[in-house]
Amino acid sequence: VKEQGKNNFQFYTPEMNEVVSRRMNLEIGLRKGIQKNEFTVHYQPQVDIPTGTVVGVEALIRWQHPKLGLISPAEFIPLAEETGLIIPIGEWVLREACRQNKAWQDAGLPPLRIAVNISSRQFQQSGFAEVVSRALKETGLESKYLELELTESIVQNSAHAISIMHELKGMGIFLSIDDFGTGYSSLSYLKLFPIDSLKIDQSFTRNLLQDSKDEALVHTIINMAHNLGLKVIAEGVETGEQLQYLLLRHCHEAQGYFFSKPVPPARISELLGEQIA
Ligand code: C2E
Ligand code: CA
Ligand code: CA
Ligand code: CA
Repeated sequence: VKEQGKNNFQFYTPEMNEVVSRRMNLEIGLRKGIQKNEFTVHYQPQVDIPTGTVVGVEALIRWQHPKLGLISPAEFIPLAEETGLIIPIGEWVLREACRQNKAWQDAGLPPLRIAVNISSRQFQQSGFAEVVSRALKETGLESKYLELELTESIVQNSAHAISIMHELKGMGIFLSIDDFGTGYSSLSYLKLFPIDSLKIDQSFTRNLLQDSKDEALVHTIINMAHNLGLKVIAEGVETGEQLQYLLLRHCHEAQGYFFSKPVPPARISELLGEQIA
């Protein structure tokens, strides 16, 4: 690829080489990561705003690479999507999250809904509904305690996507739209898709109190959810002032650093234990 003859072609600068080789390392690592148990799942509480109780948790994958250290899902999930490795990885997360939620219930903690991120590649694989059904059956978790977070890219008006969503709804699973409002899609999908909830993206929540346009968007999304009979949850809530605003506007739930960062499962048990004590 690199040729320094008389034409002096030099496609890769040293910086580019570094990016490419990190990418290759990550891709090779992803393939081995599952067998080598390098992935874990952290959980972030979702809080009912009026009562302040934890009613759900979002499962967020973590990867401890043997050489490169902790790698953010923002870096490796897109790579897993490109390479198709998101399918085995996503299935692992789904099963692990269901298993963990059942284990909390078996330990006598108040029942939670567990929200699992589903990438569009995973959703579009054939037999996705069966994968979900198997994860529930094999872990013994009741379907009403599972929520799937879908993005607007999945919802691109396809008859196929609609039929899978109906299949999942028929099983009793809760469906939500993640990063709502960032996907450039038309709002008409809201009447076509059998969804239960909207998640207000953190890019809108962040400057809610500084930027009147963000405030208008958040307010409008909350009202729209109410009018459509959907649950609405705000993500990226970091301050008491933001929470106060959301309470005033009757947003149902909130998630963010104000309550807790994503934490290992043992910490969730402690949090819930404190709640019932
Ligand atoms: P997301 O689904 O939008 O998840 C929310 C992200 O925001 C998480 O980052 C979370 O740690 C972070 N966050 C939560 N509260 C706050 C807050 O108050 N302030 C700020 N600044 N950030 C907050 P994380 O865990 O790094 O995940 C990044 C993205 O990677 C996720 O965005 C999701 O798109 C993807 N992802 C994570 N786990 C999975 C997974 O198991 N499967 C799939 N397909 N995607 C995943
Ligand atoms: Ca999410
Ligand atoms: Ca999100
Ligand atoms: Ca996001």
